Amino acid sequence: MFSCVGYAATAADARLGPIKLDRRDPGPDDVQIDILYCGVCHSDLHQARNEWQNTIFPCVPGHEIVGRVAKVGASVTRFHAGDLVGVGCMVDSCRECPSCREGFEQYCEVGFVPTYNGEERQGGGITFGGYSRAVVVDQAFVLKVPEKLDPAAVAPLLCAGITTYSPLRHWKVGPGQRVGIVGLGGLGHMGVKFARAFGAEVVLFTTSASKVSDGLRLGAHEVVLSKDAGAMAKERGRFDFILDAVAANHDINAYLDLLKRDGTLVQVGAPETPLPVSVFSLLMKRRNFSGSLIGGIPETQEMLDFCGEHDITADIEMIRMDQIEDAYARMLRSDVKYRFVIDMATMPESV
Ligand code: NAP
Ligand code: ZN
Ligand code: ZN
Repeated sequence: MFSCVGYAATAADARLGPIKLDRRDPGPDDVQIDILYCGVCHSDLHQARNEWQNTIFPCVPGHEIVGRVAKVGASVTRFHAGDLVGVGCMVDSCRECPSCREGFEQYCEVGFVPTYNGEERQGGGITFGGYSRAVVVDQAFVLKVPEKLDPAAVAPLLCAGITTYSPLRHWKVGPGQRVGIVGLGGLGHMGVKFARAFGAEVVLFTTSASKVSDGLRLGAHEVVLSKDAGAMAKERGRFDFILDAVAANHDINAYLDLLKRDGTLVQVGAPETPLPVSVFSLLMKRRNFSGSLIGGIPETQEMLDFCGEHDITADIEMIRMDQIEDAYARMLRSDVKYRFVIDMATMPESV
């Protein structure tokens, strides 16, 4: 074992602060990574505040990790010291169930091991995430990061990127389709970029008038202020596909009504309480309402390679580790532009 410093929530109402962490020494299949940057996902905030009622304290969040390989175990052939690598929301899974065999580890029937707030399969310890200087991860859950991309702006791809890329690919979003993205936060801004890159006609729905010009700059063809009832009424029945990336409770039926017959609304935002769904909106137009969870390891690598080829990264605001509480407060006010990324060089050396 070796020690490093991490930033942890010790209770749902406590401010995050430094703690000493023990990391396992790399085993034969492990990659030890020196973390350079870690994105700040709204899920980190949900978990640190125990909004999903499953947090194990102390909790070290962070599942948008980019770093350089420090050392590798004896059986590791795909990675070498110095490589630029990423780790997303998963660090292990059963690897044997039908979902794992198909590369959908996020839907592992036994349950994948999350990068933080999970139980390790071997040893039974609790996983600690990327708000930390170092992490040790099995090579099967480590991604290669294209060297040509800015590593800090790559970090958000490991969750916000794959969570939007995967449903847009699964539902075959592309040319000739009118596609809505709801909420311009970390996920939503990547959804806009990918939907545009896939050739769709992209409409952003936002509650923030201040984000209209950014929405257009990021790739939306149109931006609709969702608080404007008249503007929303004009969009009824016009969409093939809508991706909802809103972190808080909101009126989902306002978006179901915008779908064409047989259109699909996919929920990726994860509010803490259930959303009421109008059955009549679904059945009158045979509309589909679905959800989607991150993406599997093969698809995450595909997404990173796609971003390398098409020069796609997140729009980020770099913060110091000790600014994390301010970043959370701004996220709660929808004041993100469009992902906070922690510069891990600002992590204290000791507790
Ligand atoms: P974020 O950066 O905080 O963005 C959320 C955006 O939602 C806000 O910027 C805002 O956009 C909009 N919003 C916030 N409150 C709203 C309200 N009351 N009504 C309407 N719109 C509101 O969050 P994120 O990191 O993108 O995460 C979004 C959600 O996805 C979170 O719940 C997170 O836990 C979840 N998530 C799910 C997965 C998955 O696998 N399914 C993966 C990662 C994250 P506007 O200002 O444009 O309105
Ligand atoms: Zn996330
Ligand atoms: Zn499995």
